[in-house]
Amino acid sequence: MSAPAVRAYPVAPLTALDTVWFQVAGTLCNIRCAHCFISCAPDNRSFPMMTRAEVGARLREAEEFGAREYYFTGGEPFMNKEIFEILGDALALGPVSVLTNALLIKPKTAARLKSLAGASPYSLDLRVSLDGYDAATNDPIRGEGTFDRIMAGLGELAAAGHDPVVTTTEACEGVAASEGRARFLEFLRAAGLKRPRLKVLPLLRLGAETARTHAYESWETLRGRELSETEGAGLQCTTSRMVTAKGVYVCPLLIDFPGARLAATLRESLRPFELAYPACFTCHATGLSCRT
Ligand code: SF4
Ligand code: SF4
Repeated sequence: MSAPAVRAYPVAPLTALDTVWFQVAGTLCNIRCAHCFISCAPDNRSFPMMTRAEVGARLREAEEFGAREYYFTGGEPFMNKEIFEILGDALALGPVSVLTNALLIKPKTAARLKSLAGASPYSLDLRVSLDGYDAATNDPIRGEGTFDRIMAGLGELAAAGHDPVVTTTEACEGVAASEGRARFLEFLRAAGLKRPRLKVLPLLRLGAETARTHAYESWETLRGRELSETEGAGLQCTTSRMVTAKGVYVCPLLIDFPGARLAATLRESLRPFELAYPACFTCHATGLSCRT
């Protein structure tokens, strides 16, 4: 009998399909953030937009496997011409979150989202990315003029009765510490958000971020590590998958890595994954989850 193969990296099981992500706008975005870990931009067509029919096929599968929530990301989801119909389809099945830079949120958009939420028994969360307290801190990351436009989009959402979640990254100095979080929340309250919610994400040294700062060092991997059950359970890839127009990937972080594409369908993607990528090091070290 041959000995079982020894793996260099730990393996994450898929324990349940709780969360299904959709890269609904592909890698197309209306801005070009300096820290975008998948280098989304107005000219990045490496992943195309998803059609309503493509999303629908995977939603039906997700329902079959007991998915509990749906996330829509890109790129910028509101660049997708079918986004409202797609969100309506998902809201018929479960709670939905949309990750947006808010630049396309106008009064009509905010109102339409409110009526979609009102027509569903499930929640619709809008998650808006912002990387600073003012133009001087945000714009070097998100682009000139974006601070004012993001704040305007947040204002439209608040005026229409949404409680958006604001996502920031550790590129915003000091925000990872409790005083920094408190300062950010205070800033959001002062900007008119009555019940601000804040999610702080660590930076992933992938995509555009590698040019802004640097790539992972060679030692930053999980090579040779054994993960306890608790450590494994904390990784988002044990309970979620990322659907794109080019197939199903293990997670939203690794779509630029062909080895992270698991299958064409969700059904075929429900299998363990070897954590051989430097980003897995960040997930393990920081407890990163892209969920809200
Ligand atoms: S971080 Fe978000 S808003 Fe910025 S380029 Fe990437 S997808 Fe677009
Ligand atoms: S990058 Fe994170 S979520 Fe993705 S496979 Fe590695 S540990 Fe899992």
